[in-house]
Amino acid sequence: MKNLNPKCQVCGKDEKTKVCTIPGVPYSAAYCKSCFDANAHPYDLVVSNTWAAGGYNKCANWWQDLVDDTLEHLNISHSKFTKDVDAMEEYDGE
Ligand SMILES: [Zn+2]
Repeated sequence: MKNLNPKCQVCGKDEKTKVCTIPGVPYSAAYCKSCFDANAHPYDLVVSNTWAAGGYNKCANWWQDLVDDTLEHLNISHSKFTKDVDAMEEYDGE
């Protein structure tokens, strides 16, 4: 048996993690207990999915809650988040 214990992909702490799927996203990540309990998710993923949905205001309520919980847990301001989502627009795929 492999003893795989990846770092938490949300806060990057080397804590005991478990792999969980993100609601509505075909992706799974390693979460430590504090991130899991806080409903926090990997920041880059939250940004790109919010962008893909057309921005925070167009997201479903449960996704907005997930964004808020992630930002609060990681101590990231909403204005930085909005900037990061906007920055995705300029990045033209390819
Ligand atoms: Zn964590």
